[in-house]
Amino acid sequence: YSAKRARDGSQVWTPDGATDPRDRLQTLEELRGALDSDQLVPHYQPQLDLRSGQVTGVEALVRWAHPERGLLAPDTFLGLAEQAGLMRRLALRVLERSLRDLQGWRAAGHDLSVAVNLSVSNLADVALPDQVAMLLEATGVPAAALTLEITEDVLMADAARSSQVLAGLRALGVRLSIDDYGTGYSSLTYLRALPVHELKLDRSFVGQLTSDVRSAAIVRSTLQLGRDLGMTIVVEGVEDAAALAVLREWRCDVAQGYHVARPMAAEDVLDWLAARLPTPAAPLPG
Ligand code: C2E
Ligand code: MG
Ligand code: MG
Ligand code: MG
Repeated sequence: YSAKRARDGSQVWTPDGATDPRDRLQTLEELRGALDSDQLVPHYQPQLDLRSGQVTGVEALVRWAHPERGLLAPDTFLGLAEQAGLMRRLALRVLERSLRDLQGWRAAGHDLSVAVNLSVSNLADVALPDQVAMLLEATGVPAAALTLEITEDVLMADAARSSQVLAGLRALGVRLSIDDYGTGYSSLTYLRALPVHELKLDRSFVGQLTSDVRSAAIVRSTLQLGRDLGMTIVVEGVEDAAALAVLREWRCDVAQGYHVARPMAAEDVLDWLAARLPTPAAPLPG
């Protein structure tokens, strides 16, 4: 195993030997163990509502707190979990933890929502809506305070089954979001067909917002499309003040990225919220 920097800047370990069947097997055994213990934990990245200047939500991003190797980034174990059929358990873990943490912050007076990522196999799992309903009930979180993020490839994998699961989730009153929007296929077809509430524009577009006129045009017209469709647009990967200023001027709904905050452990969220300097609200349109 070797160290590398995680995308969020924390030190993570990556399994070099993942191609060696013995290492894979060992990692798989450890992953099963991690699911039975409390080693898989979400970290949370704030989402800034640009109209109000308030942080109105957080995205849950799973990490594996490995006893020897430290904090592992999701890229290092999600593929293995998917292949080994562990994604249902992983999703339920992350959902349960996220909803419990959220309920704590809400009880402390913060009107927050949480966004949880789902995978291909989660969307093929017809039991998911009932399980989400039970977790909402058990934690007392209102359905509208939960957003479920799915990527375009998830939608393509098994359209018939996933639309059944999506309909079941939507009937609960949870919000649905398309993650990494703009990087997959046939976006306009499913935008017309699918009952989603939110688009998260992939960070590759905002990264070049102030340097590339084509990226800027795509961001701007996606914001317009979102408004016309009555959908919330979240722009992810906002890394600097210049991009944030442009997004605010263009009446983007929500911004997420290192410039707002990096993902953080659950126990740091309340302190971060308390220490945060107020962001100015957007200028009135017109
Ligand atoms: P994602 O859902 O698109 O999450 C955003 C990723 O971008 C996160 O990486 C986040 O740390 C990173 N990020 C946030 N702001 C910035 C920024 O300003 N600049 C840059 N360069 N990166 C930024 P992370 O945490 O490593 O997660 C990677 C992916 O793993 C996620 O992408 C998501 O697809 C998946 N994932 C994470 N947690 C879960 C989970 O609980 N279940 C499932 N199924 N997938 C998950
Ligand atoms: Mg996401
Ligand atoms: Mg994304
Ligand atoms: Mg992604």
